[in-house]
Amino acid sequence: MSDLETVLYERPSDHIARIVLNRPDARNAQNTQMLYDLNTAFDRAAQDDAVKVIMLAGNGPHFSSGHDLREANGYDNMDDHDTVGTWCGWHCAGAEAQMAREKEIYIGFSERWRNIPKPTIAEVQGKVIAGGLMLIWPCDIIIAAAGSMFLDNTVGMGVGGVEYFGHPWEVGARKAKEMLFTADWLSAEDAKALGMVNHVVPAAELSDFAMSMAERIAAKPLFALKLAKEAVNAAQDCSGRLNAMQTAFALHHIAHSHNMQVHGMLVDPTGLSPAVKGKENI
Ligand code: ZN
Repeated sequence: MSDLETVLYERPSDHIARIVLNRPDARNAQNTQMLYDLNTAFDRAAQDDAVKVIMLAGNGPHFSSGHDLREANGYDNMDDHDTVGTWCGWHCAGAEAQMAREKEIYIGFSERWRNIPKPTIAEVQGKVIAGGLMLIWPCDIIIAAAGSMFLDNTVGMGVGGVEYFGHPWEVGARKAKEMLFTADWLSAEDAKALGMVNHVVPAAELSDFAMSMAERIAAKPLFALKLAKEAVNAAQDCSGRLNAMQTAFALHHIAHSHNMQVHGMLVDPTGLSPAVKGKENI
């Protein structure tokens, strides 16, 4: 699929699509191109009636180091893509451009992928940092390799959490606060105990385990799978998930605006050093 620059689109069997993040040298840091490639790949799988299960994986030792903070021309890069949301104004002044960009490619994409009416399975290895969580949390099932670790370090950067604020639903309110306040790593085993991860398997068995589950799911009628997914998602939404996430997103943009006024950049540079160090160390 030559139109995809940063992800691979595989069809390992008749009813399964497998999307693979493919910037291993950058630890699968997500730039604008990768997010649009991901969206194109998810759309392709969603709209292919033969596909019943969609898998998401990452090449290299780590699943994703998060958003690519080194991308210098993010607003200009928006012009290179056909946007899928209804916001625009990538070159507006003040808070407008950043909010529009994040509504489109961050919370917008993650929410969009969460609502694909087909089962999605993330197979995860190594480290998953901040924006990396926004790729796996929208998936229905998460299979983690032993030793994989999860982190949201955005509070140290003067922001109250990643844009797709799934923490309370993924790990519970109390652990969500600890995760945000401390930026401590969450182990795969702890993530499983908290309900964020379905299974922890030896790294060498990760893909086979995920594929085996995908095949078992794909043996079921697709319409029933869609209905089951919609029913569980509705249960989360009845608890106010979406409204709470939208509130968190607004607070996230208060933080960006505050940081721009006080520090002249979207994040607090006093917390940036250890965060960037963390990214470069993986
Ligand atoms: Zn942001």
